[in-house]
Amino acid sequence: MDLNPFEMAKKQIDIVAEEMGLDANITRYLKRIERALIVSIPIIMDDGSLQIFEGYRVHHSTVRGPGKGGLRFSPDVNLDEIKALATWMTWKCSLLKLPLGGAKGGICVNPRELSRKELEKLTRRFTTEIINIIGPDIDIPAPDVNTNAQIMAWIMDTYSMQKGRAVPGVVTGKPIEIGGSVGRNSATGMGLYFVIDKMCEKLNKKLETQSIVVQGFGNVGGWIASLLYERGCKILAISDISGGLYNSEGLEIDKLLEWTQQGKYLKDYKDDRNKLITNAELLATECDILVPAALENQITRENVEDINCKIILEGANGPTTPEADRILFEKGIHVIPDILANAGGVCVSYFEYVQDIQSYFWDLDRINEELKRIIIEAFEDVFKIYKERNVPLRTAAYIIAVSRIARAYDLRGIFP
Ligand code: GLU
Repeated sequence: MDLNPFEMAKKQIDIVAEEMGLDANITRYLKRIERALIVSIPIIMDDGSLQIFEGYRVHHSTVRGPGKGGLRFSPDVNLDEIKALATWMTWKCSLLKLPLGGAKGGICVNPRELSRKELEKLTRRFTTEIINIIGPDIDIPAPDVNTNAQIMAWIMDTYSMQKGRAVPGVVTGKPIEIGGSVGRNSATGMGLYFVIDKMCEKLNKKLETQSIVVQGFGNVGGWIASLLYERGCKILAISDISGGLYNSEGLEIDKLLEWTQQGKYLKDYKDDRNKLITNAELLATECDILVPAALENQITRENVEDINCKIILEGANGPTTPEADRILFEKGIHVIPDILANAGGVCVSYFEYVQDIQSYFWDLDRINEELKRIIIEAFEDVFKIYKERNVPLRTAAYIIAVSRIARAYDLRGIFP
């Protein structure tokens, strides 16, 4: 049974509230969202027919600053999923001490079925529908599953046309030519890399000797697989929506990336040394580090017993359910939680936003140095609580993130 992601997000709040002895009113307050906008997006398709899509933008909390979070295009998108993802963004920004809140958006669509023109129309109409609840001081979207820099450019243009001036700060993850930041593309992968490197150091392991399995080969999975491959790690298995590839001697990640960057599927890559595997087989592959970097609800009560790794590095948002979390903790498998592990993306989004506001742009060394400093500081904070309290790393991360939000609500009070 798949857990509803928002129920999962609320359950995670309950777990940390109990651990912290959090006030019951605050706990209730944290489990609701500030606002959700549901819009319908009518599009005249290339063949002249009318299709109507449904889209969402949710603000979970703006108590520490404007909402921040990605926008995903996927046929599975629904309101509860977006509510959960917005909630997780609140904790992620708080854990990294970014002065931003939690938001998320999505459109229920399979973008692979649309032409470029249809995709542009869909993006522009959606932006117009949500225009009153986005903006540099309100809520700043960014790329997520199946969205990219071009889509951010269309959002920026649509918003700017309505305002009568260029407003680059309305989105992050834009192309560099129109106010994007260097290092934003690789940011989530870089963040994962800094975090796992530190974790190995804490556990007295050498990162380059670890064997790796990565689920997902998009912006997050592709970058982390490539960074670990360059470091010398053996990447035993990877997957995309077409299926997985396994090689006990390690996969040639550079060649596979070249292949998928041409829009081709992993299953069609011809190399007799590689074996085709299913998603279930991939997750059950024996390895040191498993990186789920696809979607939520991948490691659940149903398959947790098959997991055969020592560390789970969450590249995706919400890949592990609370029930699976509990069992993994009992088995001594470390789970480096999404709100810490994959926070590099939003961290460099914050840098992009700051650069846009100041109209002053940094170089790649500065981006990566500041990213490393911020994410490692958050890691050390989490590790300290984990050691002191003997709780899962997720609970430790939530204790920090949730207390900052609770404190902000306390200081600001409830209006009126
Ligand atoms: N979609 C990314 C995430 O889930 C990045 C969000 C952002 O940069 O605002 O963290």
